[in-house]
Amino acid sequence: MDRRRVFAGMLVAATALGTQLGTGSTAQAATVTTLYYSSSGAPDYVAQIDQAAANWNHAVTDVRLVPGSGATIVFYETNDGQGSYTTTDGHGRGQIYLDQQQVAEGYSVTRIAAHELGHNLGLADDYSGPCSELMSGHGPGTSCTNAVPDAQEAAEVQQNFAAGFAAASPALTRLVR
Ligand SMILES: [Zn+2]
Repeated sequence: MDRRRVFAGMLVAATALGTQLGTGSTAQAATVTTLYYSSSGAPDYVAQIDQAAANWNHAVTDVRLVPGSGATIVFYETNDGQGSYTTTDGHGRGQIYLDQQQVAEGYSVTRIAAHELGHNLGLADDYSGPCSELMSGHGPGTSCTNAVPDAQEAAEVQQNFAAGFAAASPALTRLVR
């Protein structure tokens, strides 16, 4: 991973948060964390990644996913048949790898992208769950194209970001599918 890029992005996001807090928010106002993502490493899937981010933005209010420079979440595409995965700290920083072979098998790119974003927002896998869950991932099979988090997943992400953008925790970064 490119740590310099990750940390640069973190500073951008932290600055954005600071700006937001400094422009008249009241004590009662919820903290909104803006996370920037980049699809630059996944040129074939830009539209699907944007849709996945939009689905999250529709489901939660504590965190906004916005395409932009200085991204802390960066998408790439691979073609090794190892499946899609992400390395992430679970709190807005990570690299997401979308496997073209998995897509060729029939899995929805938008669902994969939304699932991996879920990991970057702090959610764990639940492969035995229903299609209505994002984090059931490949469990329900290729016929499942749902790319929208269910109410419980959305509520968990809301809670994860209730206090805003967490301090850097690279030690927590790990690989999940
Ligand atoms: Zn997963």
